[in-house]
Amino acid sequence: MLNYRNTNIVFFVLLALLLLLSFFVKVNWWLFLLLFVARFIVIITGSTQIPLNFFLKAYCNNPLEKEKKVALTFDDGPHEMTLLVLDVLKKYNAKATFFCIGKNVEKHPEILKKVISEGHIVGNHSYDHSRLFDFYRKDRLVEEIAKTDALIEKISGKKTNLFRPPFGVTNPSIKRALEVTKHHVIGWNIRSLDGIIKNEKLVFNRIKKLISPGGIVLLHDTSLQSVNALEQLLQFIEENKYKVVSLEELLDIKAYED
Ligand SMILES: [Zn+2]
Repeated sequence: MLNYRNTNIVFFVLLALLLLLSFFVKVNWWLFLLLFVARFIVIITGSTQIPLNFFLKAYCNNPLEKEKKVALTFDDGPHEMTLLVLDVLKKYNAKATFFCIGKNVEKHPEILKKVISEGHIVGNHSYDHSRLFDFYRKDRLVEEIAKTDALIEKISGKKTNLFRPPFGVTNPSIKRALEVTKHHVIGWNIRSLDGIIKNEKLVFNRIKKLISPGGIVLLHDTSLQSVNALEQLLQFIEENKYKVVSLEELLDIKAYED
């Protein structure tokens, strides 16, 4: 299995062999360089591709699900657009999970209250979603995650068990932090790219192409384009006899601490 531990084992074994070999014959320096570059590429790929489970176990779908069930997730709120997302979800009677950024919870507590009162699940998506998040040390990560948990708990009365890493990036510090905070890490296998593709039809077409039983869809509740893509998606789901279920049902996990 391709993970951090196995990558390091293979790397150090090959490095030792090359060093050993260099005692007997002249080993070209670029072979060493190649080995380091290969390790670097594998690690970068592993940290940016959450479904690889390279550093830690993340739930990205339910591969055993045979029925046409999918879960919807929204990142980066609460935001003014969350209200429109809630309206569309209500229209189709669909429940979703919102991975919230702590500082946005401080800005829009009333929106989070509405998310909860309409029966959706709330997860933790860091406090500040900083570009530097992946460079923080373990203790700072634990602090950030706990701060957002507390903000969510103040409004919902419950401590969330779900965490989604900003940008979907994982690394050894994040793994160690999550061993302390004990969250389930939630990834996705249907990335809408709604933050990058600036056309709702293309966003919807992309999801339509990727949708399959047990899938987890990643959207953002931060733009009108995502709201419109969601409406098209929910129509498609209805017409094609898919069913939107909660992450709890799809993955058989608990969203909140007892
Ligand atoms: Zn995010």
